Amino acid sequence: MKTPVFAANWKMHFGPQEARAYLHEFIGIVPPRDDRSMIFFPPAIALAVSGYALRDRPEIHVGVQNIHWEEKGAFTGENSAQMARDGGAQIALVGHSERRQLFGETDEITAKKCAAAYKAGLTVMLCVGERLEERERHTTQAVVLRQLKAGIGRLDPAQLASIAIAYEPVWAIGTGRHATPEDATGVHTAIRRALRESIGPKADDVPILYGGSVNAENVASLLAAPEVDGVLVGGASLDPHVWGKIVQT
Ligand code: PEP
Repeated sequence: MKTPVFAANWKMHFGPQEARAYLHEFIGIVPPRDDRSMIFFPPAIALAVSGYALRDRPEIHVGVQNIHWEEKGAFTGENSAQMARDGGAQIALVGHSERRQLFGETDEITAKKCAAAYKAGLTVMLCVGERLEERERHTTQAVVLRQLKAGIGRLDPAQLASIAIAYEPVWAIGTGRHATPEDATGVHTAIRRALRESIGPKADDVPILYGGSVNAENVASLLAAPEVDGVLVGGASLDPHVWGKIVQT
């Protein structure tokens, strides 16, 4: 049995003060436990404060929601992978559908960001997922596998063995509509097969998370599905009590 991964994507919620208050409350609710992995993705501006608030809880990791692929330069408003690492991030979220849809992030850009993250000593959680019209055209697996292969294209086998993948159907993000456990298993199985083609049996250790309208009511059935190794959660992670309940499922 793999240790389930619970990842919270706060999106553009919580500046430094709110992040500190949230995390103090959260660690008061959730005692240390070694039977699950936890990751928070706060906004970049709250990374350092979040890492500090969690200084006595090394089992809880902090990640950055986005990085630029260049190391430095004239990219106003951006943060490099190295800067995120200096700020306390251990992992970078890459290819979230909001980055793809709202900020024009292409497969090529996700590949560059994945490579930049590893170069700076971060690991990666690569998000993949189909849009509603792609699902309706029955192209879900083709889309997901294209995004996967592109995103990991510049990684060497050792880097790839330490990646995490999040399958997040776009139509399920923030909509209250989630994939069925069977749907998630089908896509996760295809992802696992593709990873095995690149790194053989080490692919079995790569966590594949499901994301999209996960909440306290549906989390147990999703986690019980074969090949679902964890969850990536937006909306339901914004209340420390709700998230505390979910991570203790
Ligand atoms: C997300 O943003 O990655 C996500 C899964 O959001 P939500 O849980 O709100 O659907």
